[in-house]
Amino acid sequence: MDKNKNVIVIGSGVAGLAAAIRLSVQGYSVSVYEKNDYPGGKLSAFKTNGFSFDAGPSLFTQPQNIEELFELAGEPMQNYFEYSKVDNICNYFYDNGKILNANANPILLANEMAEKLGENPETVTKYLKASKALYNNIGKIFLTNSLHKRKTWFSKQILAALKTVKYSYLFKSLNSYNSSKFKTPEAIQLFNRYATYNGSNPYKAPGMLSLIPHLEMNEGVFYPTGGMISITNALYELAKKVGAKFYFNTPVSSIIHNDGKIIGVVVNDKNVFAEIVICNADVFFTYKNLLNNQQKAKQILIQERSSSAIVFYWGIKKEFADLCLHNIFFSKNYKAEFDCLFKQKTMYTDPTVYINITSKLEKVKRQLEKKIGL
Ligand SMILES: Cc1cc2nc3c(=O)[nH]c(=O)nc-3n(C[C@H](O)[C@H](O)[C@H](O)COP(=O)(O)OP(=O)(O)OC[C@H]3O[C@@H](n4cnc5c(N)ncnc54)[C@H](O)[C@@H]3O)c2cc1C
Repeated sequence: MDKNKNVIVIGSGVAGLAAAIRLSVQGYSVSVYEKNDYPGGKLSAFKTNGFSFDAGPSLFTQPQNIEELFELAGEPMQNYFEYSKVDNICNYFYDNGKILNANANPILLANEMAEKLGENPETVTKYLKASKALYNNIGKIFLTNSLHKRKTWFSKQILAALKTVKYSYLFKSLNSYNSSKFKTPEAIQLFNRYATYNGSNPYKAPGMLSLIPHLEMNEGVFYPTGGMISITNALYELAKKVGAKFYFNTPVSSIIHNDGKIIGVVVNDKNVFAEIVICNADVFFTYKNLLNNQQKAKQILIQERSSSAIVFYWGIKKEFADLCLHNIFFSKNYKAEFDCLFKQKTMYTDPTVYINITSKLEKVKRQLEKKIGL
């Protein structure tokens, strides 16, 4: 335990909260400075006209990452956070009238794709197995190691992982990879969509992104009781429990460095020194404004942008039986849609629409509570 060592975390997004928990558990004295008056960053929520909305992310995968934080802290997770597995991953609606209710069970999903889309079920099963192997062999390793450290690239683990990389994962687009596997345009469009999970264009991004479906279709989609905001609330409470101190409405105006070493930050016009500074803020903003390193900021800015999305928050006093928690209405011409977004850099006239309806699952919870008299 080293309570004398100070750590400053800039920002209380989920990554900032997780870092604050990990370091507090290791015995550091952690201070989190947050410019907003609430924790969670993009993972926040708001209420208006009697409706509650999760503001940012809506799809919850890999709950083990949250469980791990509670285990490290030695706190029973059930006192803070509950979640359940979702039976229906997503309802897909195609322009030609076909509908696929993607079942969370990979075998049922393959059968459903055969029945509704005419896809070969064995191809689906094989694809998901390859996705799993790709994630386990490569994805996991690159997610848990820094790509910016030289030692990452020379570790035995990485060399072993690189041996499993196929030509098509690196040098074919996700669309070409998927087109070489599936016979139906609907299955290709469905698996192309995973490129959009990091804002990429499936006609340009590599086949490597075929590892993403593993997270959803093999490992599963989950729903936090109370909505996505419950993740933020649980991590914030846990961080406080393990000793992290939070300062809201407190933007860090710069990071202090000396001889290439980070030594603290400036908040409210005062210098605050620390042994470790972790920045949870956007990387371009960090170089440009907090480190005043215009050269590095420029290097970040010249990288190709990912696409964003336009989000509407609609409170609707009506139910739609055909829809589930996650729903996708695909555009007719996916290629034209991505050309429009990435080449003409404008909205497409027939955009793919994603609809998230949290009340689908919250309603079940409310009914149960009513039944047991809560
Ligand atoms: C609309 C939308 C939908 C998404 N959907 C999904 C999804 O379905 N599933 C999924 O897994 N992911 C999804 N994501 C991505 C996910 O939300 C993010 O990856 C995640 O929330 C990022 O967390 P973070 O902690 O890295 O950053 P952030 O949430 O951006 O946190 C950064 C924090 O730093 C603070 N900060 C910045 N500058 C300063 C400063 N100078 N001083 C003090 N504080 C500062 C900010 O106020 C903020 O609180 C979605 C994102 C968006 C926007």
